[in-house]
Order: sequence, then C-alpha cells, then structure tokens
Amino acid sequence: MASAPSAQRLPQPASLAGVAEPGGFDVLDNFDVLNNFAAPTGLDPQLERFLHQASSLLCRWLGEAEACPPLPALSVLPDVEPEQQGLPPQRLLSDLQLVMEGAFNPNHPGALAHLDPPPLAASIAADLICAGLNNNLLAEELSPSLTRLERSLCSWLAQGLGLGAEAGGVAASGGSLSNLMALVTARRSRGLGCRADAVVLCSADAHVSFDKAMAVMGLPADALQRLPVDDQGELQVAALAERLNQLTAAGIPVLAVVATAGTTVRGAIDPLPAIAALCRRHNLWLHVDGAIGAVFALAPTQRQLLRGLELADSITVNPQKLLGITKTSSLLLLADPQQLQLAFATGLPYMEPSWGAAHGGESGLQGSRPAEILKLWLGLRQLGLAGIAALVEGAIERRRQLATLLATDDRLQLLGGPLHLLAFRPRELDAEACVAWSSSTRQALLAEQLMLSRPWYHGRHHLKAVLGNPHTQTSHLERLARIVLENLPHG
Ligand SMILES: *Cc1c(COP(=O)(O)O)cnc(C)c1O
Repeated sequence: MASAPSAQRLPQPASLAGVAEPGGFDVLDNFDVLNNFAAPTGLDPQLERFLHQASSLLCRWLGEAEACPPLPALSVLPDVEPEQQGLPPQRLLSDLQLVMEGAFNPNHPGALAHLDPPPLAASIAADLICAGLNNNLLAEELSPSLTRLERSLCSWLAQGLGLGAEAGGVAASGGSLSNLMALVTARRSRGLGCRADAVVLCSADAHVSFDKAMAVMGLPADALQRLPVDDQGELQVAALAERLNQLTAAGIPVLAVVATAGTTVRGAIDPLPAIAALCRRHNLWLHVDGAIGAVFALAPTQRQLLRGLELADSITVNPQKLLGITKTSSLLLLADPQQLQLAFATGLPYMEPSWGAAHGGESGLQGSRPAEILKLWLGLRQLGLAGIAALVEGAIERRRQLATLLATDDRLQLLGGPLHLLAFRPRELDAEACVAWSSSTRQALLAEQLMLSRPWYHGRHHLKAVLGNPHTQTSHLERLARIVLENLPHG
C-alpha cells in the first residue's frame, strides 16, 4: 500500500484528486489518504520536496523581516475549513503564505515590545525534527531517547543554577504552567492539599500566572497575597517578614513564597538571599519565578545578579523569552525533583513501567506532550556557553544604551532593573494623560517600524522596551529615543 511507486505519489490536481467516479473510484480509497503520510519504504521524494518548499517559504519570510513592519496590518486569512477533497502541496503552501503575511514579525530589528525574540536557527530545525519524530514525553516507550535527553538537560541546567547534585526538573509548555506546577508541588510537600485557608506570598509585581494558579488550585483569589515593592520594583523584605509573623500568629499556613527574578514590566529581581533566609526560618517552600531572569545566571559575568537563586526549592526558567528557543520552552527545575512525582504520579496503567525516575506524564501536569526539550538542547549547543553569555550581555548593553539616551531628558521617569527591560513614562502626567501619550507615541514609533508595548503599571500606562532582540543596533535605539523625546508633551 504505502510502497506505491513514487510517480503515482505525485500530488494530483485538486479537481481530480479522489473524485468519485460513478461505479468506480472510491473517495475513501486508502491510497489517497496514504499519499499524505511519509512513505516508510525509502526516502519519499514528495515529502522531501514539500518540506524543502515549506522551509524555503519560512527562510524567505525570515529574510524579508526588515522590509516588513514588526506588527503587520490586518491580513487576509485563507479558508479555514477543510474542503471535501484534500489540497495539494502548492495550495497548502500558498495558504500558509497568507497566514505568514499576517504574522507578528519577531525577526525585525524594531520588534522590541515583548519577551518574544527572533527564533534561533538550531531551534527552528529541532522543532521541525520534533514534529517529524512525533514522540510523546508522556511515557518512555513513546520517547526513549528524548525522555533521557529531557531528564539530563533539566539536571544539567538545575545544577548549573546551583540547585545541587540531585536537582532536576521537567519541561512545560510555558512559564504559567511551570509556576502552577511549582505551587501544586509545594502544597503537596507541605501537606496542605486540603487546606482552603493556605496562602501564597509574592510581590505586587509578580506575574499574573499566579492568579490563574489560585483559580486552578481551588483557592480563593485572595489566597495570593501581594506585598509591596520598593522603588526599584523589588519585594520589600521587611513587609514579607512582618506578614509571615502575622500569619504564624494567626495559624494561617503558607503554601509557598514566590520571589520573582525579572519582573515583567521592569525586570526587577527580588532580594533572593534575604527572602530565602526568611523561608528557611519559617520552613517555607521558596519558588523563584525566573521566567525572565534565570537565564542570566548562565553568563558568568551576570551571575551575581541572581545571587540566592541556588537557595530556591523550585525555579521557573523560560528559554523562549530571551535565548530564541522557539515557543514554547519553559522548565520547572527543583532541588528535589522527586517532589514532582509525589505531586503528580498517578501510575500509568496502560504503559510499561518507567525504567528511569518516572514517566514524563507523571512528573507534571501535562499528559501527552511534544519533546520541547529538543529545540532547547540543540539551541544551547548551537549557541555554546559563549553565545549564551553574548546574548544576555548584549541585551543588557542595549538596555543601558537606551536608558542613557532617554535619560538626557529629565521629564522622563525610567523604570529599569538590572536586566534588559526598560519601562518609562513622562514624570508629571496623570493616568488619563498617560493613556493618550503612550498611545500616540506607540503609533509614532510603529510608523517608523519600532514596536514597544504599553503596559499598565502602578496606576499609569507606560511604554516598555524589551532589548532582547540581537538584530537591534545602536542606530535603531537612537531613532527610538529621538521619536520618544519628540513626542513628549510640552510644559
Ligand atoms: C512570561 C512570564 C511568565 C509566564 O510565562 P508564559 O510562558 O507566558 O506562560 C511567568 N512569569 C514571568 C515573570 C513572566 O515574565
């Protein structure tokens, strides 16, 4: 069946393919459907051509990035519903092209709005291979080499971040999921699974994914207690100490303390050593949301920024946010990875027993999941430690450059931490005026192919630049600063 000679596997014109002929050809003819799968009997020239053409399309799209705006205008979408007969590769590719024309364009040097950098070449290739392998991290027999790769790379990274010789973790489809799994694991480890009054402590600037986690965990929204930050955007340790004493006195259990290493608007890093010391004293689980900041610890020159990271019980890391690993790429790393299995193991009665620590599907919330580890592994190997360091150092350097350019006008209030994020707004504007200023300045920037975001932060809209795009040059930053300064309200 699948061994049909390749000449017969040529895509047929849509008008002919599989059309039922009276008294003859069956629309459900097995051969027709098989045409769409790679032949298992030797290199399939149809598949090879299709993939070549698709990757050419992609390479052209990436290569034309600078000629297109970072944020495209509204585009035409191809038909969404499948037609009665399947489409040939040329139609599929031209439909794909239409979707690509409307896609956000992260490879543009002016794409500076979000934590969504250009994709790394090895990561793109690995994503393709991952799709083709179609393995499943649910169970070892569905992903033998990839399960071991995930386990090994998680251990390497967790140990590299200082979590100790036994450390390890699991890949998750995004930081929100890593954060949720961390809290579920923490709750289990503290025996608080049945306590509806347990609370989580974090800063006012902690990520919104923790609000979702409360809802998923069946806790009231106010179980997430947000404590004030100082003028650097860092959790106030004195406020944490005081709240912990109050909770202890009231007999209210603390499920975990969350410190953020790299807040989403300004890239602030909470004082990890002091927070960890409080957690030790109260015997509390410390989760560090390092979705943005943890990768900086991989660069020897930046490591001191993350001092105290090694004291965490769990860390969320999102290589998708700066290193160019294609989405999604997030890891939850733990000093004691067995805690994950205590929280999530169910037994997988329809699988052979695990020959390693545990099946992937018993080490986290997800069941079937792709081998997202492959693009992280290959990407890190392509970059090398020197490349990783160059990326994070370059990002910090661009933030410094932009801050220096904007600081020439003291009407601007800059909010930047030690990382690669810089938020700002006019010092004297009230909330309403900030809406108008941020919208019109963003539009002026977009007209020059520079894209910033417009976060709402502490009662005002700001503009925010994320300087993680390695294509961004000093000249782009100078143009950006000029437009921002020209658009400042007078007076
Ligand atoms: C982005 C982000 C997250 C969530 O990660 P997703 O991959 O978008 O789910 C969590 N914490 C922080 C600090 C983030 O910036």
